[in-house]
Amino acid sequence: MKYRVLRNCYVYEILYHEGEVCELSDKAEICEKNFELLDKPLPDAPQAITEAVNDEDAIIPSTNDLTCPKCGKVCKSEFGLRSHSKSHKK
Ligand SMILES: [Zn+2]
Repeated sequence: MKYRVLRNCYVYEILYHEGEVCELSDKAEICEKNFELLDKPLPDAPQAITEAVNDEDAIIPSTNDLTCPKCGKVCKSEFGLRSHSKSHKK
């Protein structure tokens, strides 16, 4: 606990001078006329800004056997995929 010494005084036979700032034990018997408590609650920390996570980025596109291995196009049917694959064979 930090205290400001308000006037010259002794604590446990140690002389504290007026105007000094000193660290004293909580158990120390001090007179509030002689010491002013300096420890104050810490100011509020700035609130952390939480960014919303874009869930769309995390969505993995669903794939099936009807996905063209060459271009990734998803066909609606096996026949469609076959006919689509032919378009790559040139
Ligand atoms: Zn393709």
